[in-house]
Amino acid sequence: MRCHEVRNLFGPYLDSELDAKTSFEIEQHLESCVDCARVFKAERELDAHIFSVLRRGKKTEGVWRKLEGQIASPTLWGRIRRKRTSTQVGLGFSLAVLVALFAIFVWPNLRHLDLAVAIEKDHRAFVEGTMAPEFIGPVPDEIFRTLNDRLDAQAFATLPSTVAFQADGARLCHLSGVPVAWIMGRYQGIPVSLIVLKRSELAHFPVAKRRIESGEPVICTRTGSFQFAARVVGEQVVCAVAETSKSQLEDLVKSVRGPG
Ligand SMILES: [Zn+2]
Repeated sequence: MRCHEVRNLFGPYLDSELDAKTSFEIEQHLESCVDCARVFKAERELDAHIFSVLRRGKKTEGVWRKLEGQIASPTLWGRIRRKRTSTQVGLGFSLAVLVALFAIFVWPNLRHLDLAVAIEKDHRAFVEGTMAPEFIGPVPDEIFRTLNDRLDAQAFATLPSTVAFQADGARLCHLSGVPVAWIMGRYQGIPVSLIVLKRSELAHFPVAKRRIESGEPVICTRTGSFQFAARVVGEQVVCAVAETSKSQLEDLVKSVRGPG
């Protein structure tokens, strides 16, 4: 099973709706794939949290914050709807309100840009200080050796030309199994993540691929509290995520020049 297939099944898996063979395949994948295991852990915790609060019939600030961060989960909406029908008592009004809020604020975002969603969690970790750069300057040899041509070492040198951007450093990261250069920095003082990947790897992000290939010079979306913008620079795709306005982030992404 591939990462995206596994992730699409997290909802039914958490609700014990899968056959034994599929469940086993998911468990096997989670044992071998750190990225999916992390996403699964977050989804399971969120699941437990949301439904325990709903059962108590009230909402809390913390849940909303978590929801905002996790809304990327395409399976969540379906699960909430299904639980709504399977839990008859105790949810009542609060769930109706929650569902209405979801429909208004969240549902439009669920037709999300897959690439933006994949990046959001890592950027949040950077903003919260739980993820930091691993190196500054040239890509260390031991990282370079693991790239297997799936990522150009130059990706780490694909930077905005605007002086308003300052890089703190970089690290190698995997988004849905795709190796990407993750450059962490500040743009006008705001933390920003630049993610650079090979254009050929867009096959793993069909929504982003479709939009990029439709000819939009810069593709933009909002994901949670963050703005996302991406464009093609040569054979790479450069994405930026930050808690800023669309026009600011567009300017940043447009100022990116390929190395050399
Ligand atoms: Zn995986």
